[in-house]
Amino acid sequence: MNDLLSRTRAAVWHPCTQMKQLEAAPPLAIARGEGAWLIDTDGRRYLDAISSWWVNLFGHCNPRINAAITDQLGKIEHVMLAGATHAPVVELSERLAALTGLGHAFYGSDGASATEIALKMSAHYWRNSGQPEKNGFISLQNGYHGETVGALSVTDIPLFKDTYAPLLRHTVQAPTPDARLAEPGETAETYALRCADALEAHLAGHAATTAALIVEPLVQGAAGMAMYHPAYLTRARELCGQYKVHLIADEIAVGFGRTGTMFACEQATAPPLAAPLSPHAIRPDFICLSKGITGGYLPLSAVLTTDDVYAAFYGDATARGFLHSHSYTGNPLACRAALAVLDIFEHDQVIAANRAKSIEFTKALAEVAAHPRVRHFRHLGMIWAFDAADAMPGFSTRFHRAALALGAFIRPIGNTVYVMPPYVTNTDDMRGLAGAMLRCLDNPAI
Ligand SMILES: *Cc1c(COP(=O)(O)O)cnc(C)c1O
Repeated sequence: MNDLLSRTRAAVWHPCTQMKQLEAAPPLAIARGEGAWLIDTDGRRYLDAISSWWVNLFGHCNPRINAAITDQLGKIEHVMLAGATHAPVVELSERLAALTGLGHAFYGSDGASATEIALKMSAHYWRNSGQPEKNGFISLQNGYHGETVGALSVTDIPLFKDTYAPLLRHTVQAPTPDARLAEPGETAETYALRCADALEAHLAGHAATTAALIVEPLVQGAAGMAMYHPAYLTRARELCGQYKVHLIADEIAVGFGRTGTMFACEQATAPPLAAPLSPHAIRPDFICLSKGITGGYLPLSAVLTTDDVYAAFYGDATARGFLHSHSYTGNPLACRAALAVLDIFEHDQVIAANRAKSIEFTKALAEVAAHPRVRHFRHLGMIWAFDAADAMPGFSTRFHRAALALGAFIRPIGNTVYVMPPYVTNTDDMRGLAGAMLRCLDNPAI
């Protein structure tokens, strides 16, 4: 194991890491995974409490996803998607269309590439529609949409962004509806609507040069699991329609059941279109998906969009088409993993089962919520988070190390501790996790 650690330090440049810190805090050397658990090369077990950076849904080495990929390996591992097609990508596109109401799926490999695709497609749509000056973007304060240069331009996390500022395109950030920022006595909903008014004020002046608003629906993950009221999304949808600006829903982290519905946007409803109809979920112009899409198995992302957007690219002129590609676009193995994930959702009625689980897990975390060091305990679907009061610099690393020693893999973001477990986690696992977090909180040196 020590050998692996010295070799990783020498040869692997780890993501989101100051490599010098790896000397004091070596990474876990993982040998295998079993459901919600990671097992290191010494046989020690750690609960994967943050689903391996929010990607894992149904556990490590899930037999059903393994079987789907193994079956596909015997057929075709990969073929380019320009000039060729295959059953897994067709079936996945049809099923995602049925789930989202957006009938055209374009594929990439990572979340950031989905953001790039949505931004380019939106601006290209306006160009194809005779309004090339509509090429600006609005995002939310503290938003995160990935770290390639285009995606970083709409991201608003200074630690990730400031260094690369000279490389980035100017974009506008609208106030975040993060419910923690409500004035005393103001509800999350009232605060969200106040933020939507600020969005409207900006749109009123700048819609003519704006292509799209991109948001993380309901939860701003990288900001520290900042949660906000769905009224913001409902209002943003109305405003985008009124001012003719696309709404891009970045569901990369929150899609596939994380917030308690298949997609977070489903929790934002618009009034009925006519008398006998009931309120319906808002429909964005673009949805970006990745992370949980393959259950955490293989890199895959998708951007889904409307018939209207699709039609603006359709024609005889080649340059009118969306000439964007990645070599592994629509990889069959990744698509089969995604189809297996959708099968599990349907067959096990996961959304309904998680509703019960979510209540159980919240009970298991009651003592954590009531701990004197805990502020803003919050919860939505299969995400729980709180802010630690009196957190000193280095809190995140100390909490992470202490939790590891207690068998829990958790990585706080600043002073925000969150858990986002795989859906196969059981209540006993969750009680153990709560116990580990309490011991960390009880330790004044953390
Ligand atoms: C993780 C994430 C991304 C970027 O995805 P990568 O696969 O890491 O490039 C984009 N948007 C949101 C909301 C994310 O959480």
